[in-house]
Amino acid sequence: MPHDSNDHTHAHSVLPSDPALRVNALETLLMRKGLIDLNALDAIIDTYQNKIGPQNGAMVVARAWSDSAFCNSLFSDTTKTVADLGFYGRQGEHIVALQNTDKIHNIVVCTLCSCYPWPLLGIPPTWYKSDAYRARAVREPRKVLAEFGVALLNDTSVRVWDSTAELRYLVIPQRPEGTEGWSELQLAELVTRDSMIGTGFPKDAQ
Ligand code: FE
Repeated sequence: MPHDSNDHTHAHSVLPSDPALRVNALETLLMRKGLIDLNALDAIIDTYQNKIGPQNGAMVVARAWSDSAFCNSLFSDTTKTVADLGFYGRQGEHIVALQNTDKIHNIVVCTLCSCYPWPLLGIPPTWYKSDAYRARAVREPRKVLAEFGVALLNDTSVRVWDSTAELRYLVIPQRPEGTEGWSELQLAELVTRDSMIGTGFPKDAQ
């Protein structure tokens, strides 16, 4: 029986393709070798899933919307300014804030892998790590944004920022209309994770 390229592809497809399976295999191996402690691992996962998440970034955005001195400081030295609020650590060593305006819409991707500002946004969503997003965000950002429901005016420029291990980005979306006089806590409720990646807008004021 001939062994053509289709058979070859098929042979590969029976291998576990689900990243979760690979993670399990790695975890088992490292545990058996005594290199990791499952309780410590669970504590780290719990931290990044429940304690560190987009609510941190939302607080930064809400403060930037309400406090002009903070806003200036944020754009002149993002890493230091957010560290002063207690947001620093792994995957957040160098962070740059990007300001959305009527004329400029910023969107963040990591074309190489999944670099992301963990201390501010937590763990990246699955789509952020997908091949499709990583390739298409650069090639056809307006189309990708439209698929996320982000419709931009024709005269709004789109800027695509490629995250790296050295540099992560936080998009500061535009403050929703009708929120004059709102507290930072109220404002933070409107800030979505996707609005800080650039693939969404904040919620409307109700
Ligand atoms: Fe990366």
